[in-house]
Order: sequence, then structure tokens, then C-alpha cells
Amino acid sequence: MTKNISLLGSTGSIGVQTLDVAEMHGIRVSALTANKSVKLIEEQARKFRPDMVAMLDREAALKLKIALSDTDISVYEGEAGIKAAAEYEKSDTVVNAIVGVAGLLPTLSAIKAGKNIALANKETLVAGGSIVTAAAKQYGVKIYPVDSEHSAIFQCLECSQGRFVKKLILTASGGSFFGKTRKELENVTVEQALKHPNWSMGKKITIDSATMMNKGLEVIEASWLFGVPDEKIDVLIHRQSIIHSMVQFDDNAVIAQLGTADMRIPIQYALTYPERLPSPASELDLAEIAELTFSKPDYDTFECLAICREALRKGGLYPAIANAANEAAVQLFLEGKTGFLQIGELVGKAVSDFKGSDSLTLDDIIQADKETRKKILV
Ligand code: NDP
Ligand code: MG
Repeated sequence: MTKNISLLGSTGSIGVQTLDVAEMHGIRVSALTANKSVKLIEEQARKFRPDMVAMLDREAALKLKIALSDTDISVYEGEAGIKAAAEYEKSDTVVNAIVGVAGLLPTLSAIKAGKNIALANKETLVAGGSIVTAAAKQYGVKIYPVDSEHSAIFQCLECSQGRFVKKLILTASGGSFFGKTRKELENVTVEQALKHPNWSMGKKITIDSATMMNKGLEVIEASWLFGVPDEKIDVLIHRQSIIHSMVQFDDNAVIAQLGTADMRIPIQYALTYPERLPSPASELDLAEIAELTFSKPDYDTFECLAICREALRKGGLYPAIANAANEAAVQLFLEGKTGFLQIGELVGKAVSDFKGSDSLTLDDIIQADKETRKKILV
């Protein structure tokens, strides 16, 4: 079980819930990082007393340095500061709760420093799956999934030590716009897209849920985490988000993991594995929920899901390009500069414009990410 963590992205939705779990189980928090949220990270630092805190934004780091000057907590800045937190010697595990591909390099730094990873930052595996999984193997560290579907699959696989897997069944809530037609989606607003039926999350992943890009990213994430190809991963709409995912075995037995829609359950399991300790999340009351429903996803309306699957099948840099295009398109949508349906169009165009490449180094990934964003954000 984890004893000491560096928490990257501590001020976000996953970050805050990770601190709840750490507090409940007396897990020491040695390092915290964020981008700009000075006030919240100051509060967290005063409560959890880490040795170090890092802010990506230099101005924010300066403000935090002044705010924490009456303490002995060191404040660092920029990418180097986040890297230092990821490598911090006292931590045995790095919780990566950064949003976006910005989480990739810190994940690699942590792996190379011999840390186990509790991974919420799915973009890390989408863009750099081959490099990250190879590095984890080389340095002998574990990647524990925090994403609820992947935590569910991880738990389902335990009953057969990962053998006899016929397929993974990823459940999806369907997001804010389940059942809508493309016509109905033409003029939806940012506010409507941000209303998720079951989960309270950061803005980027909430938009990704509305477009179903999130499920596409999760198919790629699952493929890397569990070594399973696209055709062995099904997506199933399950509006209630009670079954977090399932595994079908060769004998057609299906094992599922259920729980309330509370991320503190998968976060905790990633930190306390293989132990199961009391949780701050509430008990599941199936009689109260009464009904669990299932249906097929609509790949035509929610094209991002289909595009991600295509990118996974093509391999190489395609997933990194789909991810970069999505990050840029979601940014434009949140700023009111493009429509909801244009997110899928921009991701689709980026993937179909790419002519492929034989090389897949870290530099190739970073370069492809930059170029793809630049084309969309001009
Ligand atoms: P949030 O937007 O709530 O939080 C993101 C965190 O990352 C904040 O601490 C933010 O700091 C920091 N951050 C933002 N940009 C950068 C950057 N460029 N470099 C370093 N740090 C940065 O995101 P979520 O917590 O919702 O999601 C985090 C990750 O977890 C995502 O990959 C998401 O897909 C995944 N995930 C989230 C779930 C959820 O329930 N929220 C469920 C499953 C997966 P600041 O506050 O200063 O901006
Ligand atoms: Mg998920």
C-alpha cells in the first residue's frame, strides 16, 4: 500500500478527492502541484504540510511563495518544478491528476525515478502509450488506473489473474446529450454541455463526455493498460453509471464492478491496492436505484468515439493527433469560439489529414501534438 504521494494536479476534481482519501487513510502528501490556483493550493499546503509545492504558472508560483513565506514549504515553478515533484525522493507513488497531454512528461519523469503511478491523466496513455508502458516495464513500476472504468476492469481481471479474457466492456453514461440527433446538437451551449448527469468533474473531461471523446480516449487507454486490441473492447451505454465496466471471459461469464458514482472509490483502490479499506464514498443501494439500463452507442452522432477507435487501429501518432486536436477544439468551444459539433469535425479532419509516420519517439509525439494544436488554434 502507498505510504507517501506526490499529487500532480491537486487543485482539480481528482486532486481534491485524492486528498480526501489521503486524509482518511493517513497517506503522507509530500508534494503538490497545480497550474494557477494559488488560493486553493495554499489551503491544501497549510493543511497537508507537503515538503514542496510547484506551480506551472510563474506568476502564480511567485504569489504562492509570498503566501507560504511563514512556512518551511519550498515553492517551485514551471515544468521543472512539476518534474521535481514527480521525482521527489520521499514519494513512493505519483498521483497524476493533471488534465491533458501536459501530464505525459511528468508521468515519464516519475516512472524513471522509480515511482508507481496512480494514473487519472488518460491523455498520458493516449498520446504516449507505447513509450509509457515500455518505460514502466523497464523501470519495474506499476501503473494503477484511477479512471473508474479502468479501475473496474483492473478489479474484474483480478479474478483470473488477467487470463482467459474474451473482451472488455467499457460502460459509458452517454454524457449530457445522450439520445440527441446531430440537428439537435447544432446550437447547444457550453453551459448545457457542462451538465453531466452523474459525475462532477473538470470542464475538459465533462465536454469530452458530452462528445463521447472521453469514451474514445478510454478505449485507447484500456488498450494500453490491459494489452487488448480495439476489436476486443466493446462500449456499452449505461446511463446510471453504477456498473463501472465489465470483463467477458472465454466461457462467456461476465464479471462486473459496481459502486456509487464516486471517484474516491477508484482513487483509493489505486492507492491502497491490494487492500480494501473503508471508503469516504457512500454505500451502493441497488433497491433504491431499482433499474439499470443498457444500449448501444450512436457512433454517427458521436463521431469522436468512432474517430478514436480508428486512430487506435491505425496506431503510431494517430491517437496523439486525435487527442491534440480534441484539446484544442475543446478549448475553442469553452471560449465560445466554435460550436459543439465542430469539435468532432476538427478531430476528424486532423486524423484524416495526417499521412502517417514510421517513427514514434517522444519528440515525434510532442512535435505532432504542437503542430496539430497550432493548426486549430490559429
Ligand atoms: P481539472 O481540470 O479539475 O484539474 C486539473 C488539474 O491540473 C488542476 O490541478 C490544474 O491546476 C492542473 N493543470 C491544468 N493544466 C495544467 C498543465 N498544463 N500543467 C500542469 N498542471 C495543470 O481536471 P480533472 O480533475 O477533472 O481531470 C484530471 C485528469 O483526470 C484528466 O486527465 C481527466 O480526464 C482524468 N479523469 C477525471 C475524472 C473526474 O472525475 N474528474 C474521472 C476520470 C478521469 P489549476 O487548478 O491551477 O488549473
Ligand atoms: Mg472514466
